[in-house]
Amino acid sequence: MKNLIILLLLAFTSSLQGQTSIVSTNPVAETILTGNYNPVTYLATTILNRPDTLSAGINAAVNSDSLKINILRLSAFYNRNTGSDTLSSSNGVGAARRWVYSTLQRYSASSQNRLIPSYLQFTQSICSVNQHRDIFAVLPGIDTTDKSIIIIEGHLDSRCEGVCDSLCKAEGVEDNASGTALVLELARVMSRYSYNHTLVFLITIGEEQGLYGAMAFATFAQQKGIKIKAVLNNDVIGGIICGNTSSAPSCPGPGNLDSTQVRLFSQGAFNSPHKGLARFVKLEYNEQLKGVSAVPMTISIMSPEDRTGRGGDHIPFRQLGFTAIRFTSANEDGNANVTSPSYTDRQHTTRDTLGASKTHNGIIDSFFVNFPYLGRNAIINGNAAAMLGIGPKQPDLILTAPSAYTLRIQIIKQTQYHQYRIGLRTLTNDWDTLYTLTGKLIDTIQNLNPATYFVSVMSVDSNGIESLPSTEYTASTTSINELKENKGIQLLGNRPNPFDEATYIDVLVDEYIAYKQASIEVKDNGGRLVKTLPLRLEKGINEVLFEHDYERSGVYYYTLVIDGNMIQTKEMIFAD
Ligand SMILES: [Zn+2]
Repeated sequence: MKNLIILLLLAFTSSLQGQTSIVSTNPVAETILTGNYNPVTYLATTILNRPDTLSAGINAAVNSDSLKINILRLSAFYNRNTGSDTLSSSNGVGAARRWVYSTLQRYSASSQNRLIPSYLQFTQSICSVNQHRDIFAVLPGIDTTDKSIIIIEGHLDSRCEGVCDSLCKAEGVEDNASGTALVLELARVMSRYSYNHTLVFLITIGEEQGLYGAMAFATFAQQKGIKIKAVLNNDVIGGIICGNTSSAPSCPGPGNLDSTQVRLFSQGAFNSPHKGLARFVKLEYNEQLKGVSAVPMTISIMSPEDRTGRGGDHIPFRQLGFTAIRFTSANEDGNANVTSPSYTDRQHTTRDTLGASKTHNGIIDSFFVNFPYLGRNAIINGNAAAMLGIGPKQPDLILTAPSAYTLRIQIIKQTQYHQYRIGLRTLTNDWDTLYTLTGKLIDTIQNLNPATYFVSVMSVDSNGIESLPSTEYTASTTSINELKENKGIQLLGNRPNPFDEATYIDVLVDEYIAYKQASIEVKDNGGRLVKTLPLRLEKGINEVLFEHDYERSGVYYYTLVIDGNMIQTKEMIFAD
């Protein structure tokens, strides 16, 4: 018993040892994060905060040469492992973070010193080093009535095959000088303008060993009562070439190029605030910039929170209840979790460098990061953060299906706006239709196709800017009677279908049911059991994510099984 108590005590103290004494080294930055400051102190001489000014300004000012210069500089620190040298002025994570800090200071000097940099220091044993520092800069909002902040972030640390190897060449260009350079570029460009909300440009460390730097910031926010409206994490964001082994869902095939698509990863599906944020990012880009962009980008809202077996800095924020998504290139190299002589992918290896010399003269003429592509991704981030920074408040709604093929929507929160946009989706992560509601708070949408609809609403302010979408609700335009017959349980069509690597399977429960065990059984065409996915059934939509292995295309069947009884079976198609 005594041993048990000691063990318990040990377990308790070691969990407390996980990120202690998290401090902002600049108390002014902390004051701004908590919203306890006088905005007048930080006002720009000329306040530029019109949505069209912001959108066009960010679009024009993001510069691929500036991104390139910063990536070249970051690669020159040789090794940015979290456990690497902190004393050298040229190599290691210490020199790298001091350079990031001074770069933010330099950008601040050209924006009336309104960008306030700080370190976030925390204690945590990572690669035998106990004290670490994220770097961040705050741009104080001009309105402190709503104190929530918007974070654009990326991790600074790099690694080779050995997760704590602090001596190898670990330039970490694609992973993640690309994300660091993106955050710095937006700090430079966005600090020329003013926003109602405070913007935070955050560069973390300790990502490669366990997302520690992001966890430190999220924990700090929780401890200090800092409200976070959104986190935009950028990790592996500049490459356009598929490797051989990138984790699903990803590349169509090795060597494939894609410089016009970016993936947004986030947790959840039905009523996920993270997916709502992803849809918002896409909407603001599509409606404000896509039409005027020389190279229009496609934003793909992915189903899983990250690629299979992979993770990123958005996850600790989500775990602590903050809305967070990850931006990642459409095409990327694989993770070096295999070390064999034939393995050629670059991520997490000493090969994640600037590029290659095609002419073999030692001068890099073929870069692994495509700087204009990285610039386009920076613009998508910047535009979304700007609109979040000035946009209206999030409303709420009541959704009903009063008769067949009809939905009724009533706005019940933030009812002061003249306009709202109602988003309807059925089978994918994207809205199928957006309705605009002008001058009223109740609307009835008729003659809808028979389907289960997922509905959310955004406020629209007098500048035409949307809020983040509300809570999502669901209603079926056909299944009301059918539901009764099925004792209130319905297996819905998987989304998306056909699918590449992952699809959501939803079960709609209309009435409470008593049961012991429920699962979805996935079988192949020959009736062989491929996977059993346990499921918890509550009133409303219940969902599981089915992740498929590579190269097993064809037709599959999924069955809802409750207490050993097969309730309903549906077909799904795995594309390739
Ligand atoms: Zn990374």
